[in-house]
Amino acid sequence: MGSESVKVVVRCRPLDDREKALGCKLVLSMDVHRCQCFIEKPGTVDEPPKQFTFDGTYYINQTTEQLYNEIAYPLIEGVTEGYNGTVFAYGQTGSGKSFTMQGVSEPATQKGVIPRAFEHIFESIQCAENTKFLVRASYLEIYNEEVRDLLGSNTKQKHELKEHPERGLYVRDLTMHTVHSVGECERIMEQGWKNRAVACTLMNKDSSRSHSIFTIRLEICNTDAAGQDHIRAGKLNLVDLAGSERQSKTGATGERLREATKINLSLSALGNVISALVVGRSKYIPYRDSKLTRLLQDSLGGNTRTLMIACLSPADNNYEESLSTLRYANRAKSIQNRPRINEDPKDALLREYQEEIKKLRALISGQLALSSGQPADALSRLPPNADETKEKIKEEYEEKLAKLQAEYNAEQESKAKLQANIIALQRSYESKLSNLKKAKASRGSSDPMKVSSSCKAQEEEKERTSNTDQISFSTTASLGKPDSSCAAVSAQKDPDGNELTYSADTKSNQPLDQKHVLERLHKLEQEVIGGEQARNKELQQRHRQRKKFADQRKAQLINALSEDSEESDSVLLNVYNSIQEEVHAKSQILSRVQGKLKAAKLEIRDLQAEFELERNDYLANIRRLEREGQLLNSLLERMVPLVRRDCNYSNLDRMRKEAVWDDDSSTWKLPDVMVQKTTLPSAVTPNPSSCRDSGSDHAESLMVEEDRYKEMLDRKDSENIANNYFKSKRASQLLSGDAAKGHAGHHSVNGSNINPSPRSDPVLPRPFRLESLEVLVPNGKAKRRKSKSHIHGEGI
Ligand code: ADP
Ligand code: MG
Repeated sequence: MGSESVKVVVRCRPLDDREKALGCKLVLSMDVHRCQCFIEKPGTVDEPPKQFTFDGTYYINQTTEQLYNEIAYPLIEGVTEGYNGTVFAYGQTGSGKSFTMQGVSEPATQKGVIPRAFEHIFESIQCAENTKFLVRASYLEIYNEEVRDLLGSNTKQKHELKEHPERGLYVRDLTMHTVHSVGECERIMEQGWKNRAVACTLMNKDSSRSHSIFTIRLEICNTDAAGQDHIRAGKLNLVDLAGSERQSKTGATGERLREATKINLSLSALGNVISALVVGRSKYIPYRDSKLTRLLQDSLGGNTRTLMIACLSPADNNYEESLSTLRYANRAKSIQNRPRINEDPKDALLREYQEEIKKLRALISGQLALSSGQPADALSRLPPNADETKEKIKEEYEEKLAKLQAEYNAEQESKAKLQANIIALQRSYESKLSNLKKAKASRGSSDPMKVSSSCKAQEEEKERTSNTDQISFSTTASLGKPDSSCAAVSAQKDPDGNELTYSADTKSNQPLDQKHVLERLHKLEQEVIGGEQARNKELQQRHRQRKKFADQRKAQLINALSEDSEESDSVLLNVYNSIQEEVHAKSQILSRVQGKLKAAKLEIRDLQAEFELERNDYLANIRRLEREGQLLNSLLERMVPLVRRDCNYSNLDRMRKEAVWDDDSSTWKLPDVMVQKTTLPSAVTPNPSSCRDSGSDHAESLMVEEDRYKEMLDRKDSENIANNYFKSKRASQLLSGDAAKGHAGHHSVNGSNINPSPRSDPVLPRPFRLESLEVLVPNGKAKRRKSKSHIHGEGI
C-alpha cells in the first residue's frame, strides 16, 4: 500500500478595509512559481525573512478557481473513484477560510471549494460509463466539544461518536440525505448554514468558534464487461475549522474563556496529532483527545487523501498568527497518509438497491411471462418476432426513462413534473405490453406443462433471493395461479437507522400490483444516478482536459522543487576553468548557506520565545483548572456530611473508585444513587415527663418539625419503616388527644427496656425525637442539629 503526504497550500488574502485604514504593511510575499512563502518580522531590517515551501502558494490576486483546478481537482476526482478525501481550511478568524471553502458567487472565479466540489462530483457521475452512484450528504458541527447535526430536526441535540468494528468511527443518529444534483447539494448546504446561524445567535457564538464538517459519501457500482458488479465507496470531508488565534490572548473570561479553552483544546489536539505523526517515533497518536481529531482520524495518517489550505492575512499586525499558521502548515505537510480504494464495503446501501432493482426487473419480466400465459423459459420458444418486440419495448422504455432522469438532473426540474412524465411513460409502456399480450393470446393458449416449469423457475428465484438476508426483496408467485404473485412493500431501516428501504413481503399472497412494483423500481432507479451524459462528447472532453491540467501542474511543481536542489549540487560538482571562477561560485554558495544558518538560528530563538509563551498559556490554564478543582473539592467536603449515612454517596472515596470514564460520550458514568434499607429496632416509648417539661408550645413546634420530617421521608419508599413509626404516633395522638401526657413512663433513654414488639405498644418510639430532647439526652442540642442536618441531606 503506497503512502502519500498531506498536501498543503497557503493562501493570502488582500488587506481588508480595516487594515488599510490602520495603515498596515504587508509582511507576506510569495514566489508562486516555486511555491515559496516569505514572512518578514515587522520592525527588523537585518533579519532575513522566514521561508516556507508548500505544495502551492496563492497570493492576493489569485482565485479559488486556480487553487481548485491545480490542487483540489485530483483529490475530488479520487473520491469519485473510491478514495476518501478531506479538504480543510485552517487559519485565524478573518483570514479567508470561509471565503475559500464557501466562496462568493460573484465573480465566478471566486466560487468556493465546496460548490466546486459539488459540480465536479456530479459532472464525473454524469460522464461515467457503466457506473451507478448513490450520493448522500451530512453536515455537522463541533461546538464546545459537542457534535451537532446541522441537518437534523434538533440542531442543539448532542450526538455521540461510536466505533463500529467494520464501519469504523461514526456519529450516532446523524442524518444522511440522498442527493441527486448540484442544486440539491447546495440547498442542503444552505439549510445547514442557516441552522448554524440560528444556533449561533441562540448561543451567542459565531462560526469562528465552531468547526463544521460537510461530508459527501459516494457509493459506486461499476458493471464490468462480464456483467459483474464491483462496489466501491468514497467519502469527501469538507472542513471549515474555527479560528486558530490564541483565544486566551483576547482577554476572554468566564464562559467565553471556557469556550475558548475547548476550541483551543481541539485545535491544539489537532496540532499534537500532527506533531506525533510527523515525529514518527511515537506509536501513540492522541486522536482521542478531542472530537475533531477523532472525526479527522482517517484524514491524518490514515486511509484518506488530505489537502490543507492554510489561510493568511498579509498585515503586519497579524504577524504572529500568520507565522504560527505557517509553522502549523509546514508541520502538516510531513504527515504520511495511506489512501486506498475502498472496495467492496460491507455496509453499501447501493448493493441493496442494485439487487432490489434487478429483482424488481426480474419480477416484472416474470409477471410479463405469467400474465401472458407464457412461462419465463418458454418465452425463448415464442416466435422470434414477439421476443424482439418485447425487447424493443423494454429498451425503448429504459432509454426514455434514462433520458428523463438526465433531463431532471441537468435542468433540475420539479419532482412533480418528472413524476407526471414517468407516469405517462409508464402508461404507454403498460398499454404496449397489453397490446403485446393480446397479440400473443390471439396466437393460442398456454401449455400446462410449460406453466409448471415457469413455477419451478419462480421457485428457484425465490430460493436464491430469500437466502440473502440483507436484501430487502424477494418474490413469490402463487404457483397455482399463473397471474398472481406478491409485492407488498414495507419500510426498513439500515444499521444507521438513516435510510429507508422497502421489502417485499413474501408471505402475502396478494396479486402482484404491477403499478406498485414499477413505482418502486422508478423510485430506486432515481436514487441511483450515473452515466446520464455518458454520450456527451463535449463534456467528456472538458472533463478529461481538467484532469490533464491538474497532472501537468503536478509535474511542473515537481520540476520547480527539484531545480533548487540541483542548483546547489551543480555548484559543487561543476568542473571550473579557473580557480577564480571556482572560488567565486563557491563563495556564493557559502554566503547562501551562511544566510540559511543565520535564518535557522533566528528560527530557533523565535521558536523558543514562542514555546515560552505557549508554556505560560498552558500553565495559566493548569492553574485555573486546579483552582476550579479545588473549589469543587471543598464544596464536596462540605456537602458530604449532609448526605444521609445510608446513601452510597456518603462514601465519596468509594464513589470515586466506582466512577467510570466513558470515551464515547466523554463523560463520567457515576454509580446510581442508592439508599440501603435498614430495619430499625423497636425503640422506646417517649418519656411523658419530658413532654410535660417542654410545655405545649415546644410540643407544637416539635410536631410541626415532625410533620416536615414525615413529608421528607414519605418521598422515599425505602423509608417506610421510619414512616410507619410516625404514622402510628400521629394516629394515636389524634385519636386520644394528648396521648403522650396520659401515658405512664416505662422506659429509659439508654434503651434498656425497649419494647420488643411495636404492635404491643400503640405509640411507637422515635429515635430522632428522643435525641432532639435536650433535657434527657446529654449534648442533646448538638445531636439534634446533627439529626436535623442528616435529614436535610436527603436531597443531595
Ligand atoms: P474566516 O472564515 O477565516 O473567518 P472569511 O472567509 O470570512 O474569514 O474572510 C474575511 C473577509 O475577507 C471576508 O470579507 C472575505 O470576503 C475577505 N476575503 C478573504 N479572502 C479573500 C480573498 N482571497 N480575496 C478577497 N477577499 C477575501
Ligand atoms: Mg469563517
